[in-house]
Amino acid sequence: MVKTLTGESIDRAVEYLKAGELVAFPTETVYGLGADATSPEAVAKIFELKGRPSDHPLIVHVASAAAARLWVREFGEHAEKLAKAFWPGPLTMVLAKNGRVASEAVGGKTTIAIRVPNHPLALQLLESFGGGIAGPSANMFGKVSPTSAAHVAADLGDSLGYVLDGGKCKVGVESTIIDLTGAPTLLRPGGVSVEAMNKVLGLEVVDGTAGESRAPGMMKSHYAPNAKIRIVALEELQAEDFEMPDNAGVVAPVVVEGAVSWTMPQDAEGYARGLYAVLREADYKKLDTLFIVPPSEGDIIEAVLDRLTKAAAPRVK
Ligand code: AMP
Ligand code: MG
Repeated sequence: MVKTLTGESIDRAVEYLKAGELVAFPTETVYGLGADATSPEAVAKIFELKGRPSDHPLIVHVASAAAARLWVREFGEHAEKLAKAFWPGPLTMVLAKNGRVASEAVGGKTTIAIRVPNHPLALQLLESFGGGIAGPSANMFGKVSPTSAAHVAADLGDSLGYVLDGGKCKVGVESTIIDLTGAPTLLRPGGVSVEAMNKVLGLEVVDGTAGESRAPGMMKSHYAPNAKIRIVALEELQAEDFEMPDNAGVVAPVVVEGAVSWTMPQDAEGYARGLYAVLREADYKKLDTLFIVPPSEGDIIEAVLDRLTKAAAPRVK
């Protein structure tokens, strides 16, 4: 079984990382499955444990913008501005890498995706470790990301050694990814909105999310629970002729009769915080269908709609 570590055992977690072992750790977005980003052997364990294809590059977590500079060829003006405004925080920057990161961690690419997470335990861990921690979400590949230590244990408990328990994640969806190797280009919407970045950069970030799988690992189906997801408007569910199928669940701003019903806030921030836990509960209850009414407003609505669309997409397998 997985061993749960608390804030007092940061030193132990650091020892494990230094010994090339994996440690799951909390961030403000979701829990990460961490390994020493300079160690090919440690990084290989992440891909093996998650069942993640080896060409899907990992995000490297560091303690500060100063630390981030040690991993890249150039930390330019755009990176400076974004780091100042949003780090520590849910923003990942793709930059030209130098020789420090294990090439297995970046899927053999010439770039590195890097961020400073905004979580006290993650920052303590990174500072004590003194290096970079490669960390994708601590779940099986293609499944719903974990937003609590219990979720990590439920997914990876049999094969993972240690999870550092930092409570529930405050953002609840993954980081925004921006490619800064050319004109600033959005690869994945997330916890920092495009509008906020436009303001800080004084330009319009290019939308790179629409093209054919621009970022490796950006697949159409992802964040997927077992239940079939249908995205609907509340009015549809409340219409007189609507027929609720058997063994269904509903995620909506109000209770809906005739199904297992979860109520969610209308704002994207509150919604994001609870979304993955609800998707997991739907699976625990072995529901066949889950009707989801999306949030209606909020800075990170794009990120929530993106995850809902991917959860609803036809499965690749
Ligand atoms: P996750 O799957 O949540 O761990 O997020 C990692 C994602 O970041 C990957 O699936 C890629 O889409 C993106 N990414 C990571 N490293 C790079 C990189 N070097 N260049 C471009 N995208 C990257
Ligand atoms: Mg993931």
